[in-house]
Amino acid sequence: MALIESEEHKALRSAVAAFGKRYGRDYMTDIIDSGGYPKELWLEAAKLGYLGVNLPETYGGGGGGIAELSIVLEELGTAGAPLLMMIVSPAICGTVISRFGTEDQKQEWLPALADGTRTMAFGITEPDAGSNSHRITTTARREADTGDWLLTGRKVFVSGVDIADATLIVGRTEDARTGNLKPCLFIVPRDAPGFTRRKIDMELHGAEKQFELALDDVRLPAEALVGDEDAGLLQLFAGLNPERIMTAAFAIGMGRYALARAVEYARDRVVWKTPIGAHQAIAHPLAQAHIDLELARLMMQKAAHLYDAGDDVGAGEAANMAKYAAGEACVRAVDQAVHTLGGNGLTREFGLATLITASRVARIAPVSREMILNYVSHQTLGLPKSY
Ligand SMILES: Cc1cc2nc3c(=O)[nH]c(=O)nc-3n(C[C@H](O)[C@H](O)[C@H](O)COP(=O)(O)OP(=O)(O)OC[C@H]3O[C@@H](n4cnc5c(N)ncnc54)[C@H](O)[C@@H]3O)c2cc1C
Repeated sequence: MALIESEEHKALRSAVAAFGKRYGRDYMTDIIDSGGYPKELWLEAAKLGYLGVNLPETYGGGGGGIAELSIVLEELGTAGAPLLMMIVSPAICGTVISRFGTEDQKQEWLPALADGTRTMAFGITEPDAGSNSHRITTTARREADTGDWLLTGRKVFVSGVDIADATLIVGRTEDARTGNLKPCLFIVPRDAPGFTRRKIDMELHGAEKQFELALDDVRLPAEALVGDEDAGLLQLFAGLNPERIMTAAFAIGMGRYALARAVEYARDRVVWKTPIGAHQAIAHPLAQAHIDLELARLMMQKAAHLYDAGDDVGAGEAANMAKYAAGEACVRAVDQAVHTLGGNGLTREFGLATLITASRVARIAPVSREMILNYVSHQTLGLPKSY
């Protein structure tokens, strides 16, 4: 593994950085304030090959991996214009379909996910399951005479369902032999009868909205099932590892954006004889934030490298640790950035205060800080479980 980025990766990083700057924070803020969605940015990113950079070339993608996709998201975030749906549409859904989908599913979805004309959301979280995804109860029943699936259940906090053409729903089917429920993935079109959504009133300044979903005997054709009914968790984790790596990229981008604003400010703002950035009480926490973000990026690169090399198990541990490190680094960088601006840190004009809530997302989702600490305690260190 090249710890120092390859020339191709560096070139991709600087091209996306320049592209992101053309949009920037002001563009995103205007979109968010008007309740809209950054469609123009999404489509142009797709046209430049950034959205589908991880998808197979045969289906219109760039033939790269999560390493490249995470560079794209990190740089857009650093420019102040992150696209949260990249975590979901190309990273989770695109990966799962390209690894486990049928030929028809690949042809139907992958070129459209890559060129940005279609988007897919992802729903696993349930009101009564939360962090314990083993407890999800959304259930698919197969109708004997038609072969159709009937899907019933509830989901919560699912992002972007309003703008997505379909949602990849994690449900369970009953094992005919054991009677146990096993996880399965279904493509549910946005307007499927019985599939309803309610927007959750979030205190988040973001373009993507979160929804509570109800699935009431949603009838789906046999072809809506993605992958093998018996593959269980393997298929699910094929999508969840990219999700964690991409959430790390999202968090690192946001942290870098906030840190850069704080550094600019600290260089110019004078209230004694020197700029405030000369005071170590201001400079050191910013230096520390930079180090933490760099370290988190190293772990993200390791996770992406392992994932792209086909090591799902090794990638699992690294992806969790990268998401943890990036979430924590982002929260600290944003907190310190806001503090560096003094009163201006809380004004709308400087636009950093809204990142205080936004930065918390990476600590909670898609898997919380504590659940990662649990994972490392049990899986890596072999300590016993409390739950
Ligand atoms: C902005 C946003 C976007 C999201 N988008 C999506 C999406 O697109 N699709 C989707 O499916 N979900 C999405 N989610 C949901 C997200 O994945 C969940 O919020 C997350 O998994 C945590 O679940 P929960 O909110 O039910 O918290 P809970 O599981 O109720 O946890 C609450 C607290 O208890 C702690 N806790 C729980 N169990 C343990 C334990 N065993 N040990 C120690 N601490 C514990 C947690 O760490 C947390 O701090 C999104 C969430 C947010 C905030």
